[in-house]
Amino acid sequence: MTSIQYNLDLEVTEVEAAKTVDFGSYDHIIVAFSGGKDSLACLLHLFDLGVNREKIELWHHDIDGREGSTLMDWPVTRDYCRKVAQAFNLPIYFSWKQGGFEREMTRDGTATAPTMFETPDGLQSRGGQGKPGTRLKFPQVAADLKVRWCSAYLKIDVGSVALRNQDRFNGKRTLFVTGERAQESTSRARYKVFEPHRTHGNKRHVDHYRPVHGWSEEQVWEIIRDYRVAAHPAYALGWGRLSCACCIFGDDNQWASHRVVLPDAHADVVKYENSFGTTIHRQKTITERADSGTPYEMDPALIELARSEIYDLPIIVDTWALPSGAYGPASGPT
Ligand code: SF4
Repeated sequence: MTSIQYNLDLEVTEVEAAKTVDFGSYDHIIVAFSGGKDSLACLLHLFDLGVNREKIELWHHDIDGREGSTLMDWPVTRDYCRKVAQAFNLPIYFSWKQGGFEREMTRDGTATAPTMFETPDGLQSRGGQGKPGTRLKFPQVAADLKVRWCSAYLKIDVGSVALRNQDRFNGKRTLFVTGERAQESTSRARYKVFEPHRTHGNKRHVDHYRPVHGWSEEQVWEIIRDYRVAAHPAYALGWGRLSCACCIFGDDNQWASHRVVLPDAHADVVKYENSFGTTIHRQKTITERADSGTPYEMDPALIELARSEIYDLPIIVDTWALPSGAYGPASGPT
């Protein structure tokens, strides 16, 4: 098993939680799986802990939704996630807000869109009748989820709607696993390793477990290497963190690289910055930022793979190599 560092400031350390979490007592174990290294490490760590794989399911939130927007996500992410699930013989369920990030950002006196979520019994939809509201600007680059609305509206709320609205979780015990790490930011350092999930209540028991909260990035790559899992191609392109390809937290080099890899999405951001009169960064335009950066040295074949909606390489590889983005600047949500 990978060694684990203690963070003694936490109420429950990773080691204490892993010892005290009675995995056998749960009916369902949901791993929130972005396709990034930290959620992958969570999954592999559950395997290390001997958790019954028949209880595990992966959940992935499509940030762009499924209605045609291609502004934010890596095109290959969805299929990469699907192939990881297949490689470990696990079910994967996708969920999203209709119209994704783009529809939410362009709300103009309208309600937030309904949430769509896959279930074992098919696709379902809930919500979308809230109060009218107007955004017409990008989320703010901030830790506060009230102004950095993308994480709240397109990930956290979507997952909660999917959990609250499936009878199969009622009267059951569910463990909801996410991969935030303390090392990522001071705000994430304050997260608890183990706590009641926001959907916990009289109807259903749901615990939230962050098994890699105290892990270093070295530990994360170590477990991925041990299982010889190919990381998402964004890491080999030079990204230090898998988030949206167009993550609002991008640094100058990331924006310069984004302009090369996904020029159409990049041009759409320029268009929105012009039409909103407010940039992502608030002070600089995305063009000024990309002009100040240097694109990563990127393999053209990997660029094609990242642009593709099909991930056609093996997930479990014979020879594992640390991707060039590992240990690089981790520009991503705080
Ligand atoms: S990855 Fe970045 S842009 Fe995407 S939802 Fe998270 S904070 Fe927002």
